[in-house]
Amino acid sequence: MDFPSFSLDTSLLEEAREPEPEATYDLLILGGGPAAMSAAVYAARKMMNLAVITKDFGGQVRETSEVENWLGFQSINAKDLADRFEEHVKGFDIAVSLGTAATEVNKEGDTFKVRTDSGKIYSSRTLILATGKRHRPLNVPGEKELVGRGVAYCATCDAPLFKGKKVVVAGGGNSAFTTAVDLLKVGTEVTLVNFIKGWQADEALQQRVKETSEVSLLDYHQVVRIEGKGRVTAVVVKNRENEKEERLDTDGVFVEIGLLPNNESFRNLVELNEHGEVIVDCSCRTSVEGLFGAGDVTAVPHKQIVIAAGEGAKAALSAYDYLINKSLL
Ligand SMILES: Cc1cc2nc3c(=O)[nH]c(=O)nc-3n(C[C@H](O)[C@H](O)[C@H](O)COP(=O)(O)OP(=O)(O)OC[C@H]3O[C@@H](n4cnc5c(N)ncnc54)[C@H](O)[C@@H]3O)c2cc1C
Repeated sequence: MDFPSFSLDTSLLEEAREPEPEATYDLLILGGGPAAMSAAVYAARKMMNLAVITKDFGGQVRETSEVENWLGFQSINAKDLADRFEEHVKGFDIAVSLGTAATEVNKEGDTFKVRTDSGKIYSSRTLILATGKRHRPLNVPGEKELVGRGVAYCATCDAPLFKGKKVVVAGGGNSAFTTAVDLLKVGTEVTLVNFIKGWQADEALQQRVKETSEVSLLDYHQVVRIEGKGRVTAVVVKNRENEKEERLDTDGVFVEIGLLPNNESFRNLVELNEHGEVIVDCSCRTSVEGLFGAGDVTAVPHKQIVIAAGEGAKAALSAYDYLINKSLL
């Protein structure tokens, strides 16, 4: 099915003003992914005086090619979706510091202080942490260049794109085996490549995968490089026992060797779980009063665009309620 083409109104984007270090905002939002952008839209519609500090707009959404599970679109180009989110945010009069990373977050009295890599310090009465996660990369040649062109990190999102094809899954734990299950369901031929000796996934999950004829298992093997011009065509793996290299023809590589939350700037301030994710309650409140969390950086399960956007909306509304209850709005 064809969808109408979308063109971005760049005049809006140029108008975003820089946040002011002298001001004390009602709300500061860290991040520019779906969680942060949804929070920004909700907060702006509540007429909160807010600013967004982010390295980029789009977050992980810009890492993929097509999104097939954003409600209302059978399939939408991921860049177009991220552009639409960005345009929506910039349709409001919101201060944005783009290309900026928060490096240190503290609370002084009732005020949050955010130091950035530009050396500026911003202040606010409430703060939303929406800095997302990044996939632990394989760090092999070809990986970065072919992200979204056969290199994938999210089976829930991308498995259907590999229907009837050949895929290598790097990893040996539950995420790798769950990815294998998702791929097998759509009729993909799967090769699991495990760096560590011995598979780490739950026994039942392993059994389910191992009894399938469309699966090959390469234990104690290392992905050496990913090959392809424009799209993945092969993966070179090395047997760590005998150092022998082998080229596997493949249409894709799923990297499932763990996720890292972007928590470096606030991990000493707020309670995290054992994975480094921000612990939030069902209203997105953290262990610190006035501090909220949303999206992939939190312990909320299922890392998806729609979930991050929903949590971002909740976090903004909770920040609003917090300020109203404190008679600060
Ligand atoms: C390849 C790939 C394909 C995917 N496909 C799909 C799909 O088809 N459907 C789906 O639902 N989900 C998909 N996902 C998952 C989805 O993209 C994430 O769940 C979602 O983007 C999470 O949103 P978020 O806002 O919480 O975090 P992110 O998208 O990670 O955004 C975090 C934002 O914070 C910024 N940031 C990080 N650190 C700092 C800092 N210190 N200071 C300031 N800013 C900072 C980042 O630059 C970024 O803008 C995919 C993910 C990947 C990687």
